[in-house]
Amino acid sequence: MASELIHAILLLGAPGTGKGTQGAILGQVPGFVHQSSGDIFRSMDPNSEIGKLFRSFSEKGELVPDDVTIRIWKQDVDRRIAAGTFRPTSDLLVLDGIPRTPSQAKLMNELLKVHSVIHLSCKDEEALVERLRKRAQKQNRPDDAKPDVIRRRLEVYREETRPVLECYDKSIIHKIDPLGTPASVLRDILSVVAPIQADVLGNALA
Ligand code: AMP
Repeated sequence: MASELIHAILLLGAPGTGKGTQGAILGQVPGFVHQSSGDIFRSMDPNSEIGKLFRSFSEKGELVPDDVTIRIWKQDVDRRIAAGTFRPTSDLLVLDGIPRTPSQAKLMNELLKVHSVIHLSCKDEEALVERLRKRAQKQNRPDDAKPDVIRRRLEVYREETRPVLECYDKSIIHKIDPLGTPASVLRDILSVVAPIQADVLGNALA
């Protein structure tokens, strides 16, 4: 882990709000590194102990326990630093799908300086269900293929993840409507994060 706090931006929103899509686009911009906890879990050997544990929770729409999740997250940060694909002095980490509980947020806040929480806020759950169904057809995602698992994922978001918002100062929370076109959502996100990159890391990037 880096000795200084890691500069971070959080993408927070229910499954289907496009965190992964927007995070991946942002990650293409120099100085932004996209890190998705779901992608980290999915990239693990499915026959390993953690791979099996992940599957046992994700196929029910449940969260992996906090201690395991934070351990895997830290390992991934360290791996990126060692590989030179994340440079804490000049990159902003764009966190997607993590923290997902207030206790994850508390553990992570010891290591992070969170500059902004992008809250992809959507009251239209049916629109999200539809998006998740479509995604399941395109990608091989067993957790989004079954309607009851989708419903559970949305319920878990409401009960366990939405309270993460309370762990951050209101002044850094930016609510964005995720149901616009991908380009308009990106524009709204960039209007929040571009000034942060300029203010916080401008000197390091110059
Ligand atoms: P996602 O791709 O972010 O929707 O994540 C897929 C699944 O991975 C979730 O339903 C959880 O089972 C697991 N997962 C991803 N991130 C976390 C997290 N921060 N905490 C606990 N479980 C997670």
